[in-house]
Amino acid sequence: MKIIVSLLLALSSIPFALVAAEPAAKPNIIIVLADDLGYGDLGCYGHPSIRTPHLDRMAAEGLRFTDFYSPAEVCTPSRAAMLTGRYAIRSGMSTGGGRVLFPNSKGGLPAGEVTMAEALKRRGYATAHIGKWHLGIHEGSRPNEQGFDETFGLPYSNDMDGRSKVPAGSPNPPQDGWNVPLMRNGKIIERPAVQSTLTQRYTDEAIAFARAHKSEPFFIYLAHTMPHVPLFASAEFRGKSTRGLYGDVVEELDANVGRLLAALREERLAEKTLVIFTSDNGPWLLNKAMGGNGQGGSAGLLREGKGSTWEGGMRVPGIVWWPGRIKPGVTSEMANAMDLFTTSLALAGAEMPKDRPMDGVDISPLLFEGKALPERPFFYYRGDMLMACRLGPWKAHFWTQTGYGQPKPDSHNPPLLFHLPSDPSEQFDVAASHPDALEKIQSALAAHTAAMEPGTPQLK
Ligand code: MG
Repeated sequence: MKIIVSLLLALSSIPFALVAAEPAAKPNIIIVLADDLGYGDLGCYGHPSIRTPHLDRMAAEGLRFTDFYSPAEVCTPSRAAMLTGRYAIRSGMSTGGGRVLFPNSKGGLPAGEVTMAEALKRRGYATAHIGKWHLGIHEGSRPNEQGFDETFGLPYSNDMDGRSKVPAGSPNPPQDGWNVPLMRNGKIIERPAVQSTLTQRYTDEAIAFARAHKSEPFFIYLAHTMPHVPLFASAEFRGKSTRGLYGDVVEELDANVGRLLAALREERLAEKTLVIFTSDNGPWLLNKAMGGNGQGGSAGLLREGKGSTWEGGMRVPGIVWWPGRIKPGVTSEMANAMDLFTTSLALAGAEMPKDRPMDGVDISPLLFEGKALPERPFFYYRGDMLMACRLGPWKAHFWTQTGYGQPKPDSHNPPLLFHLPSDPSEQFDVAASHPDALEKIQSALAAHTAAMEPGTPQLK
């Protein structure tokens, strides 16, 4: 005891700058992004049969969000917004006409955008993109040109480059049905990518990168291909869940998140690494009503799914883990993936871009001190249409449309108004009895749209 006390006294006389020496001041940051995983697909979010013990443990040790949002209802704009901290309409990655990038698209994330990887790299971080990219395949837009030292994965969705007559949502998709390449640093290393081992191989890459860079700060953007259809599980997981192939795939994803966190503990990196688990958009429902076969995810009690600005399309799992720093718990504070940009830069001591409007906020006070975040509006875009806005517990819809199957949006004037805590399934329009709530949303909307300058459309 005496020794400890004198050691503490000795330490306290060291100037602060030395105690707070790097790299402790620059935590490692890992974002694990699932593709099309629904709000209701994990045990800790209420799924009755898919077993996700590792994500459940991550949630129990970390902070689990009940109201975490993807910044868009489909892949490309969601990823663009998360990596730039700005609604995708600002970078031209959310447009009318096309919804996501395709292999023959000419556009991509503009080189002039500042990505999280670029900002962190400037602060001395080693940066890796592992998994799906989907932000452009042309010069200026590719991972190595957007701030990532290393990249390994698919350039776009696993249901593209199709050559199969079997639909992507099939319970038994053919391995060679999609000619998607697997790439490392701009070179094709396998085509078609063997999809059944992607979850494992992505995780291997992430663990290897963390180990190789354990003595310097690192940022890993691990964007899993699963559970986007076509679904593939490895031999170890195939047929093992009680929820069909979709359950197999989610259970494999869960086991691999467990493997990654175990490796961080083993390397004594857990206490200096912020890990976030979330999804890029809601579940691709593929339910009976849509003519599907059940090989899609679940938004739980939220309405609709991927592609829609109903809650099921954009409210997603959000788990933040950092042993010793984040007090375990559950929060109903509203946050979204654009906040990950702002929060990561703040933690790294990186400078925020000052020459452009930013949409994320630093959620550190919530993560580390349990403080409520200031009230702010969240906007739900579909392409270039502003469909809905949430402020506090209230959400107003100006337009509504299902993700798939409804050809044209319905217009609502006056807007529909839902009180989300009491009506999470958005069933009961209370606009008539809450004019004040609607008025507040209308003025937030007016301020947002008046200042909005959409970027040059890229999804063409
Ligand atoms: Mg997606």
